[in-house]
Amino acid sequence: MRKTRYAAAAIAAAAALTLSACGGGDSGGAEATGEAEGSGETIRIGIKFDQPGLGFDEGGSYSGFDVDVAKYVANELGYSEDQIEFSEAPSANRENLLSNGQVDMIFATYSITDTRKETVAFAGPYFVAGQDLLVRADDDSISGPEDLEGKNLCSVTGSTSAQKIKDTYPGVNLVEQPGYAECVSLMAGGGIDAATTDDIILAGLAAQEANAGQFKVVGAPFSEENYGVGLPQDNTTCEAINEAITKMIDEGAWEEAITANTEGADYTFNDELNPPTPEPCA
Ligand code: GLU
Repeated sequence: MRKTRYAAAAIAAAAALTLSACGGGDSGGAEATGEAEGSGETIRIGIKFDQPGLGFDEGGSYSGFDVDVAKYVANELGYSEDQIEFSEAPSANRENLLSNGQVDMIFATYSITDTRKETVAFAGPYFVAGQDLLVRADDDSISGPEDLEGKNLCSVTGSTSAQKIKDTYPGVNLVEQPGYAECVSLMAGGGIDAATTDDIILAGLAAQEANAGQFKVVGAPFSEENYGVGLPQDNTTCEAINEAITKMIDEGAWEEAITANTEGADYTFNDELNPPTPEPCA
Protein backbone atom coordinates (compact mmCIF):
# COMPACT_ATOMS: atom_id res chain seq x y z
CA MET A 1 0.00 0.00 0.00
CA ARG A 2 2.85 2.34 0.69
CA LYS A 3 4.01 2.42 -2.85
CA THR A 4 0.94 2.46 -5.03
CA ARG A 5 1.45 6.02 -6.14
CA TYR A 6 5.07 5.54 -7.12
CA ALA A 7 4.31 2.28 -8.91
CA ALA A 8 1.55 3.90 -10.93
CA ALA A 9 3.79 6.78 -11.82
CA ALA A 10 6.53 4.40 -12.90
CA ILE A 11 4.15 2.69 -15.30
CA ALA A 12 3.13 6.05 -16.67
CA ALA A 13 6.78 6.88 -17.21
CA ALA A 14 6.81 4.92 -20.43
CA ALA A 15 4.50 7.48 -21.98
CA ALA A 16 6.13 10.46 -20.35
CA LEU A 17 7.21 13.68 -21.90
CA THR A 18 10.61 13.58 -23.50
CA LEU A 19 13.04 16.34 -22.75
CA SER A 20 14.34 16.22 -26.29
CA ALA A 21 10.97 17.42 -27.52
CA CYS A 22 11.23 20.59 -25.51
CA GLY A 23 13.17 22.68 -27.91
CA GLY A 24 16.60 22.62 -26.30
CA GLY A 25 17.00 25.32 -23.71
CA ASP A 26 15.13 28.20 -25.25
CA SER A 27 15.55 30.70 -22.46
CA GLY A 28 12.67 32.78 -23.78
CA GLY A 29 10.59 30.57 -21.51
CA ALA A 30 10.90 33.06 -18.69
CA GLU A 31 8.49 35.42 -20.36
CA ALA A 32 5.07 34.87 -18.91
CA THR A 33 3.19 36.23 -21.86
CA GLY A 34 0.41 33.73 -21.65
CA GLU A 35 1.06 33.10 -25.34
CA ALA A 36 3.64 30.39 -24.88
CA GLU A 37 1.27 27.52 -25.51
CA GLY A 38 1.86 26.13 -28.93
CA SER A 39 4.56 28.68 -29.69
CA GLY A 40 7.42 26.22 -29.20
CA GLU A 41 8.81 28.08 -26.21
CA THR A 42 9.85 26.13 -23.19
CA ILE A 43 10.21 26.92 -19.52
CA ARG A 44 13.11 25.44 -17.56
CA ILE A 45 12.20 24.32 -14.06
CA GLY A 46 14.57 23.01 -11.40
CA ILE A 47 13.23 20.30 -9.09
CA LYS A 48 14.64 17.62 -6.80
CA PHE A 49 15.12 14.20 -8.38
CA ASP A 50 15.58 12.16 -5.19
CA GLN A 51 12.82 13.25 -2.81
CA PRO A 52 9.84 10.89 -3.20
CA GLY A 53 6.50 12.66 -2.87
CA LEU A 54 8.09 16.06 -3.62
CA GLY A 55 10.41 15.88 -6.61
CA PHE A 56 11.29 12.43 -7.86
CA ASP A 57 12.75 11.11 -11.09
CA GLU A 58 10.69 8.10 -12.13
CA GLY A 59 13.07 7.38 -14.98
CA GLY A 60 12.38 10.30 -17.29
CA SER A 61 9.06 11.44 -15.86
CA TYR A 62 8.74 13.29 -12.61
CA SER A 63 6.37 13.01 -9.66
CA GLY A 64 5.70 14.79 -6.40
CA PHE A 65 4.03 17.80 -4.86
CA ASP A 66 6.68 20.28 -6.08
CA VAL A 67 6.26 18.86 -9.59
CA ASP A 68 2.46 19.17 -9.43
CA VAL A 69 2.65 22.78 -8.21
CA ALA A 70 5.26 23.54 -10.90
CA LYS A 71 3.04 22.08 -13.64
CA TYR A 72 0.00 24.00 -12.39
CA VAL A 73 1.91 27.29 -12.21
CA ALA A 74 3.60 26.76 -15.60
CA ASN A 75 0.20 26.07 -17.12
CA GLU A 76 -1.18 29.29 -15.66
CA LEU A 77 1.79 31.12 -17.19
CA GLY A 78 0.87 29.69 -20.56
CA TYR A 79 3.09 26.61 -20.81
CA SER A 80 1.63 23.20 -21.49
CA GLU A 81 3.20 20.17 -19.82
CA ASP A 82 5.33 19.29 -22.83
CA GLN A 83 6.79 22.80 -22.83
CA ILE A 84 8.36 22.22 -19.42
CA GLU A 85 12.01 21.18 -19.25
CA PHE A 86 12.65 19.74 -15.81
CA SER A 87 16.20 19.51 -14.53
CA GLU A 88 17.77 18.62 -11.21
CA ALA A 89 18.33 21.39 -8.67
CA PRO A 90 20.28 19.96 -5.70
CA SER A 91 20.14 22.00 -2.49
CA ALA A 92 23.64 23.45 -2.83
CA ASN A 93 23.20 24.53 -6.48
CA ARG A 94 19.87 26.37 -6.40
CA GLU A 95 21.08 29.97 -6.04
CA ASN A 96 23.73 29.41 -8.74
CA LEU A 97 21.29 27.81 -11.18
CA LEU A 98 19.05 30.88 -10.89
CA SER A 99 21.68 33.58 -10.90
CA ASN A 100 23.56 31.97 -13.84
CA GLY A 101 20.32 31.80 -15.82
CA GLN A 102 20.39 27.99 -16.14
CA VAL A 103 16.76 27.62 -15.02
CA ASP A 104 13.75 29.95 -15.05
CA MET A 105 12.14 28.77 -11.80
CA ILE A 106 12.89 26.36 -8.98
CA PHE A 107 10.32 24.25 -7.12
CA ALA A 108 12.59 22.18 -4.90
CA THR A 109 11.58 22.25 -1.21
CA TYR A 110 13.29 25.63 -1.35
CA SER A 111 12.85 27.61 1.87
CA ILE A 112 12.46 31.37 1.61
CA THR A 113 15.25 32.96 3.69
CA ASP A 114 16.73 36.45 3.96
CA THR A 115 20.20 35.11 3.13
CA ARG A 116 18.97 33.53 -0.10
CA LYS A 117 17.05 36.71 -0.96
CA GLU A 118 20.45 38.42 -1.28
CA THR A 119 20.99 36.48 -4.53
CA VAL A 120 17.60 35.19 -5.68
CA ALA A 121 13.92 36.13 -5.48
CA PHE A 122 10.97 34.05 -4.33
CA ALA A 123 7.30 33.78 -5.18
CA GLY A 124 5.09 31.95 -2.73
CA PRO A 125 5.21 30.38 -0.20
CA TYR A 126 3.10 27.48 -1.46
CA PHE A 127 3.78 25.13 1.48
CA VAL A 128 5.06 25.24 5.05
CA ALA A 129 7.06 22.32 6.45
CA GLY A 130 9.16 21.98 9.60
CA GLN A 131 12.65 20.63 10.24
CA ASP A 132 12.58 17.26 11.97
CA LEU A 133 14.69 14.15 12.52
CA LEU A 134 14.67 10.69 10.95
CA VAL A 135 15.89 7.91 13.22
CA ARG A 136 15.95 4.12 13.15
CA ALA A 137 12.49 2.67 13.86
CA ASP A 138 13.65 0.99 17.08
CA ASP A 139 15.51 4.04 18.44
CA ASP A 140 13.61 5.73 21.26
CA SER A 141 16.63 7.61 22.59
CA ILE A 142 16.32 10.59 20.22
CA SER A 143 13.36 12.94 20.57
CA GLY A 144 14.96 16.15 19.35
CA PRO A 145 18.27 17.68 18.24
CA GLU A 146 19.31 18.20 21.88
CA ASP A 147 19.63 14.40 22.16
CA LEU A 148 22.24 14.30 19.39
CA GLU A 149 25.21 15.70 21.29
CA GLY A 150 28.26 13.68 20.22
CA LYS A 151 26.18 11.63 17.76
CA ASN A 152 26.45 11.47 13.97
CA LEU A 153 23.75 13.43 12.19
CA CYS A 154 23.48 13.58 8.41
CA SER A 155 22.15 16.51 6.41
CA VAL A 156 22.66 18.17 3.05
CA THR A 157 25.14 20.82 1.97
CA GLY A 158 23.49 24.13 1.18
CA SER A 159 20.30 23.39 3.11
CA THR A 160 18.72 25.40 5.90
CA SER A 161 18.63 22.08 7.79
CA ALA A 162 22.44 21.74 7.94
CA GLN A 163 22.81 25.45 8.71
CA LYS A 164 20.42 25.28 11.64
CA ILE A 165 22.38 22.42 13.23
CA LYS A 166 25.68 24.30 12.79
CA ASP A 167 24.20 27.47 14.27
CA THR A 168 22.22 25.98 17.14
CA TYR A 169 23.69 22.56 18.02
CA PRO A 170 27.47 22.82 17.54
CA GLY A 171 28.07 19.72 19.71
CA VAL A 172 26.44 17.49 17.11
CA ASN A 173 28.73 15.74 14.64
CA LEU A 174 27.22 16.90 11.35
CA VAL A 175 27.96 14.83 8.26
CA GLU A 176 27.03 16.61 5.02
CA GLN A 177 25.94 14.85 1.84
CA PRO A 178 24.74 16.12 -1.57
CA GLY A 179 21.19 14.72 -1.06
CA TYR A 180 18.94 13.28 1.63
CA ALA A 181 18.73 9.89 -0.09
CA GLU A 182 22.48 9.54 0.56
CA CYS A 183 21.85 10.29 4.25
CA VAL A 184 19.28 7.50 4.41
CA SER A 185 21.69 5.04 2.75
CA LEU A 186 24.34 5.97 5.31
CA MET A 187 21.85 5.42 8.12
CA ALA A 188 21.05 1.97 6.79
CA GLY A 189 24.78 1.23 6.98
CA GLY A 190 24.75 2.06 10.69
CA GLY A 191 27.41 4.78 10.94
CA ILE A 192 24.88 7.58 11.16
CA ASP A 193 22.42 7.94 14.05
CA ALA A 194 19.92 10.33 12.46
CA ALA A 195 19.18 12.49 9.43
CA THR A 196 17.66 15.94 9.50
CA THR A 197 15.65 18.05 7.11
CA ASP A 198 12.01 19.00 6.57
CA ASP A 199 9.46 16.55 7.98
CA ILE A 200 7.69 16.06 4.62
CA ILE A 201 10.98 15.07 2.93
CA LEU A 202 11.88 12.61 5.70
CA ALA A 203 8.39 11.06 5.63
CA GLY A 204 8.65 10.47 1.88
CA LEU A 205 12.04 8.78 2.22
CA ALA A 206 10.87 6.63 5.15
CA ALA A 207 7.91 5.44 3.06
CA GLN A 208 10.04 4.29 0.13
CA GLU A 209 9.73 0.60 -0.46
CA ALA A 210 13.46 0.04 -0.06
CA ASN A 211 13.34 1.59 3.41
CA ALA A 212 10.01 0.13 4.55
CA GLY A 213 9.81 -0.21 8.32
CA GLN A 214 13.43 0.80 8.91
CA PHE A 215 13.05 4.44 9.93
CA LYS A 216 10.64 6.83 11.61
CA VAL A 217 10.24 10.59 11.70
CA VAL A 218 10.51 11.85 15.30
CA GLY A 219 7.53 14.18 14.75
CA ALA A 220 8.69 17.22 16.75
CA PRO A 221 9.41 19.94 14.16
CA PHE A 222 11.84 22.65 15.30
CA SER A 223 11.63 25.21 12.48
CA GLU A 224 9.21 26.68 9.94
CA GLU A 225 10.24 26.15 6.33
CA ASN A 226 8.28 28.26 3.88
CA TYR A 227 8.64 26.70 0.44
CA GLY A 228 9.00 29.39 -2.20
CA VAL A 229 9.37 29.38 -5.96
CA GLY A 230 12.97 30.38 -6.59
CA LEU A 231 13.35 33.02 -9.31
CA PRO A 232 16.12 35.19 -10.70
CA GLN A 233 16.15 38.60 -9.07
CA ASP A 234 15.31 40.29 -12.39
CA ASN A 235 12.22 38.09 -12.98
CA THR A 236 8.97 39.45 -14.33
CA THR A 237 6.91 36.47 -13.23
CA CYS A 238 6.62 36.69 -9.44
CA GLU A 239 3.13 38.27 -9.31
CA ALA A 240 1.72 35.87 -11.91
CA ILE A 241 3.15 32.92 -10.00
CA ASN A 242 1.57 34.13 -6.76
CA GLU A 243 -1.76 34.45 -8.55
CA ALA A 244 -1.40 30.91 -9.89
CA ILE A 245 -0.61 29.54 -6.42
CA THR A 246 -3.64 31.33 -4.97
CA LYS A 247 -5.83 29.94 -7.75
CA MET A 248 -4.47 26.42 -7.17
CA ILE A 249 -5.39 26.71 -3.48
CA ASP A 250 -8.82 28.26 -4.13
CA GLU A 251 -9.72 25.64 -6.75
CA GLY A 252 -8.89 22.72 -4.47
CA ALA A 253 -6.05 21.48 -6.70
CA TRP A 254 -3.49 22.28 -3.98
CA GLU A 255 -5.31 20.08 -1.44
CA GLU A 256 -5.67 17.32 -4.02
CA ALA A 257 -1.96 17.46 -4.83
CA ILE A 258 -0.70 17.42 -1.25
CA THR A 259 -3.08 14.60 -0.35
CA ALA A 260 -2.12 12.45 -3.34
CA ASN A 261 1.60 13.00 -2.86
CA THR A 262 1.67 12.13 0.84
CA GLU A 263 -0.77 9.23 0.56
CA GLY A 264 1.64 6.39 1.24
CA ALA A 265 3.67 8.28 3.82
CA ASP A 266 3.16 8.66 7.56
CA TYR A 267 2.69 12.42 7.26
CA THR A 268 0.00 14.98 7.90
CA PHE A 269 0.68 18.56 6.94
CA ASN A 270 0.29 21.28 9.57
CA ASP A 271 -3.14 22.70 8.78
CA GLU A 272 -2.59 25.76 10.95
CA LEU A 273 0.20 26.87 8.61
CA ASN A 274 -1.16 25.40 5.37
CA PRO A 275 -2.11 26.33 2.81
CA PRO A 276 -0.11 29.55 3.19
CA THR A 277 -0.87 32.91 1.60
CA PRO A 278 1.81 34.00 -0.89
CA GLU A 279 3.83 37.03 0.22
CA PRO A 280 3.78 40.18 -1.88
CA CYS A 281 6.61 40.20 -4.43
CA ALA A 282 9.51 42.50 -3.54
N1 GLU B 1 13.79 23.41 2.90
C1 GLU B 1 15.17 23.36 3.27
C2 GLU B 1 16.05 24.16 2.33
O1 GLU B 1 15.57 24.83 1.50
C3 GLU B 1 15.67 21.93 3.35
C4 GLU B 1 15.30 21.05 2.20
C5 GLU B 1 16.25 21.15 1.02
O2 GLU B 1 17.48 21.06 1.20
O3 GLU B 1 15.75 21.24 -0.09
O4 GLU B 1 17.24 24.15 2.43
